[in-house]
Amino acid sequence: MTSTAARPGTGMGRPIAPAVSSGDRPCKTVSKPFEAFYESADQLRARVACRRCPVLTDCLRASLDADESLYAWGIFGGLTPEQRRALRVEEVLGNVADLAVARILARGQWGYRLRAMLELGRTYEEMRTCLEREFRVKASTVTVRVAVWWLGGSGRVLPRPDTADGRRVPQRLREDHGELLLKLQGMDLRQRDIAAYLEVQERQVQYCLARLNREIRQAAQTAVAVQTVGLAA
Ligand code: SF4
Repeated sequence: MTSTAARPGTGMGRPIAPAVSSGDRPCKTVSKPFEAFYESADQLRARVACRRCPVLTDCLRASLDADESLYAWGIFGGLTPEQRRALRVEEVLGNVADLAVARILARGQWGYRLRAMLELGRTYEEMRTCLEREFRVKASTVTVRVAVWWLGGSGRVLPRPDTADGRRVPQRLREDHGELLLKLQGMDLRQRDIAAYLEVQERQVQYCLARLNREIRQAAQTAVAVQTVGLAA
C-alpha cells in the first residue's frame, strides 16, 4: 500500500513508497519542498537532488513497484516517468538492473568514463562492452542504462545509423527492429512504454506498428487466397 503526501497547491497526493521513510530525503528538505519533483521545468534540479539521496535505490525500486507513479508523477529515484517506464519494460523482458552497481557507475571515475562514451554517441550495449573489455567491469546493459540516466544523460538503445543510411527513424525501426516491436506489442505493453524503452517518439512506434500489422494482415489474406485457389484447382 502506498501513502500519499499533499502536492502543494493542488491538494493531490504524491505517492510515497513505504520503503522510503527517511527524513533525509532531499525531496523533503530542498528549499522548495516537492515542487521540483513535479514541475517539468525544474526536473533537472530534482534529479540532481536525488543523486545525493540516501534512499535513492530503494526509492527507485519502490516507484517501479507502484504503477501509479510511472504515469502520474514526476521525479522518483532520480528518474523521469519515461525512464521508469523504460525500466519497467526492461524488467518485463527479464532485464533487471543492479541498482547498487549502477550507483557506483554513476559516480567518480566511472561516471567520468560513461560521460566520455556518451559524448561519442555510444549505445548502452556498447558502453557495457567497453567497460568489460577495457576495465574488466561486468555490468548488465540495463545497469549501465540506469547509471547513464543518473548521470543526467541519455544514451542510445538503437545503434547510430551509418552515415550513408538515409532512412528516417520510423523506417529504420520498422525494417531493422520490426521483430522486437511486434514482440513488445505481443506482451501487451502500451505503445508509449515501448517508445520510452526504445527512447523514440510514441508516434514513431504507432506508425511502425500500424504498418507492420497491416503487412501481417495482407500476408495472411494472400496466404488464404493462394490456399483457396489451390483447393479449387
Ligand atoms: S530518490 Fe529522489 S524522489 Fe526518491 S526519496 Fe530521494 S530525493 Fe525523494
